[in-house]
Amino acid sequence: MTQYIGAIDQGTTSTRFMIFDQAGAEVARHQLEHEQIMPKAGWVEHDPIEIWERTSSVLQNGLRKKNLKAGDLAALGITNQRETTVVWNKNTGRPYYNAIVWQDTRTDRIASALERSGAGDTIREKAGIPPATYFAAGKAQWILENVDGVRADAENGDALFGTIDTWVIWNLTGGVDGGVHVTDVTNASRTMLMNLETLDWDDELIALFDIPKQMLPKIVPSSPTEPYGHTTRTGPLAGEVPIASALGDQQAAMVGQVCFSPGQAKNTYGTGNFLLLNTGEKLVRSKNGLLTTVCYQFGDKPPVYALEGSIAVTGSAVQWLRDQLGIISGAAQSESLAREVPDNGGVYFVPAFSGLFAPYWRSDARGAIVGLSRFNNNAHIARATLEAICYQSRDVADAMEKDSGVKLEVLRVDGGVTANSLCMQIQSDVLGIPVSRPVVAETTALGAAYAAGLSTGFWKNTEELETHWKEESRWEPHWTQEERADYYGRWQKAVTRTLDWVDV
Ligand code: ADP
Repeated sequence: MTQYIGAIDQGTTSTRFMIFDQAGAEVARHQLEHEQIMPKAGWVEHDPIEIWERTSSVLQNGLRKKNLKAGDLAALGITNQRETTVVWNKNTGRPYYNAIVWQDTRTDRIASALERSGAGDTIREKAGIPPATYFAAGKAQWILENVDGVRADAENGDALFGTIDTWVIWNLTGGVDGGVHVTDVTNASRTMLMNLETLDWDDELIALFDIPKQMLPKIVPSSPTEPYGHTTRTGPLAGEVPIASALGDQQAAMVGQVCFSPGQAKNTYGTGNFLLLNTGEKLVRSKNGLLTTVCYQFGDKPPVYALEGSIAVTGSAVQWLRDQLGIISGAAQSESLAREVPDNGGVYFVPAFSGLFAPYWRSDARGAIVGLSRFNNNAHIARATLEAICYQSRDVADAMEKDSGVKLEVLRVDGGVTANSLCMQIQSDVLGIPVSRPVVAETTALGAAYAAGLSTGFWKNTEELETHWKEESRWEPHWTQEERADYYGRWQKAVTRTLDWVDV
């Protein structure tokens, strides 16, 4: 009997279920969006119940498309938007509050107080990341401090903390009827609570955020030797399928892009951008504003680490052109509009809507469009938006080169924005190296499937997976060195204009 691997990709804007065959080719998919709840400036929430309902629907619809049943799946993998935080009651299954999304900046005071007190260095040293609104622990602290009854329930073991992997796995494995409470190492490395060397919760870090330890999930490998648990007969798959992987979305994309060797890197262009470099079993501490994170841990092997540059706003700046400015009717139109002009007409757009992430880490920054003259029009703004995606990636690539000494020779790309051929051409021009996109663009789901298939023996080893990777498109740089240096210098000047804008 032919069997397949299923992967749930619970992303920031939508939830997707994909089914892959032995060759790593897509068999079926189903995808549903969920609501972005924005109660105040800087606040972004999701309804965890809606996320679970969407997850259930995409599982059922994905199977139905090919007339498959739970028994046709050898295993199920999970990948998820990272850092987004849920606290729920284990007896009722009800969340105490909406999920606080990674982009949410309500915890800026928690982050800046940690920096002022000197605790920032402890977090950087132990967790590999700086105190920032981005990561989960501050969000959990906010819920504990601002929602009635949560702290007492957490102290007596009734309130559970989780990132989205944890929430989805708990529900898939039965929820109030024996749901498994786990998180994988990659997701745990985004909390500010895990020690990167021991791969365990760190008491000193937990104390900084005043989080009761009993609410934390058990940390497990991304691809376990034994499944975390099984889906249930009464659940959305109506059968028992082993749940055999969990990875944060960016780490999953590394696996989907088969970046298994030190020195290999990929850039994912979605809501935000995430450039990751595999550094092998070596934990490289950044001196240039990057994050050190767990790339993956397969079975009982040592963990593989990565350096990461996370950029908060890239594809979402394109959404902003559509939703807030109304100058395009859909994301794809950003390309045709930008192509109406030969260059940016002197306009630079720094979309620091929620401060600047890597390599700047400035929560006091806010967005700016600079260099405007009467001559400029919508097309220049569209072009500057696409360029901003590429210049922010250059900022991160330069930092990565300084930290690791590795000079990128080619950049593997994936994610929604890579459908924009003009943007990919600009990226190649800005970096001065080729940009390469694989046939399977859904590398996030594919990576979760790969990890689950490795865990259960569906695929033998990573060498087998490497044979699946095929290039679909390639862009070569055209700009001269002088053009590249001149334009990038202007971008860097534009960035300085956004700093020190709000008090934190
Ligand atoms: P996520 O997983 O973060 O939800 P996706 O990989 O699905 O993101 O990509 C969605 C993002 O890609 C959106 O922000 C959208 O604006 C952007 N996008 C999609 N198509 C294009 C395009 N042709 N040009 C530019 N941006 C695009």
